[in-house]
Amino acid sequence: MKHSSTASNPSDIIRPEILALKAYHVPPATGMVKLDAMENPYALPQALQNEISSLAADAPINRYPDPNAADLKAALRETLAIPDQMEVMLGNGSDEIIQIVAMATARPGAVVMSVEPAFVMFRMIATFANMQYTGVPLTADFALDLDAMLEAIVHHQPAVIFLAYPNNPTGNLFDEHAILKIIEATPGIVVVDEAYHAFADASVMDRLADYPNLLLMRTLSKLGLAGLRLGLLIGRPAWLTEFEKLRLPYNVNVLTQHVTQTVLRHMDVLLDQASQIKTERARMLAQLGALGALEVFPSDANFILFRVDNATDIFGKLKQQGILIKNLDRTHALLDNCLRVTVGTPGENTQFVTVLKTLLSE
Ligand code: PMP
Repeated sequence: MKHSSTASNPSDIIRPEILALKAYHVPPATGMVKLDAMENPYALPQALQNEISSLAADAPINRYPDPNAADLKAALRETLAIPDQMEVMLGNGSDEIIQIVAMATARPGAVVMSVEPAFVMFRMIATFANMQYTGVPLTADFALDLDAMLEAIVHHQPAVIFLAYPNNPTGNLFDEHAILKIIEATPGIVVVDEAYHAFADASVMDRLADYPNLLLMRTLSKLGLAGLRLGLLIGRPAWLTEFEKLRLPYNVNVLTQHVTQTVLRHMDVLLDQASQIKTERARMLAQLGALGALEVFPSDANFILFRVDNATDIFGKLKQQGILIKNLDRTHALLDNCLRVTVGTPGENTQFVTVLKTLLSE
């Protein structure tokens, strides 16, 4: 048998835009004060943990999960007050939903649009799906540049616009009126990504009925279930029927389905934790604001963006002292010297602010 034509080199086979990508980097965090990934820092109460233990023990893990996760969906509908006329699709995290939306809309030449800076997976997944990506810069105070967005919509005719509300990594809510203008102006769909909804007093849930091209994405990750991986897409059945065709049949596993349903019965626990995080956010904003040697940006999320004189240096020194945050320096012109810290427990936050204060006065 002749092997001379056998492909041995990835660059002969793999798409050039994939060869050019860098994999999404998740830094090691064992033993660190982990304030880099917008996780809820609190554990569940012991009684609920015990309930989950016995659920896990009894879970039929020899069987495939319910492909429609019907019971879980019903619980989510009730807990999240999803309008009856809207359909729900579940993803293995909202990351997977972004991917499904991209795959479904990836006609030749189709464009994904978002803002810059935005959640990096919008751009990455557009590339995975062989789509074009356009990011319209926010203004210097991280607001939507509505004129620029409307112009870009006319120019690029995007199939999909992703808007995180509140935005990551900036932490702010966009003007709702501007979002609605964008929804009205675009020929495609708009996915409003409310990953940080629990920490903001705003949602487009009530607008779904008014805008046929609007879809709403949520996740339970920031609320305290990041490890379970569960995201939701909410919207009109006509859209969701198409997206469902691309969803892998068993994408939400048995443990996630069972455990989430149980935790949802104790939603007050998660909302209480979110409320503690909001209280801590206010304390951190005040403390960081009082430091003087940095610029701190307002936040409606469970993280805070701030700017120092020497971000990479400060990031490295925090890490040396066991505190992991996110360095955004040089990821975008608007994020020059910016760092992002997730709101942790009161103890973690105090530790972070204390060490940062020392580093800034060195
Ligand atoms: N959207 C935004 C805006 C995010 O910041 C994140 C997580 N960083 C996600 C979606 C993805 O969340 P998950 O896949 O955990 O649901």
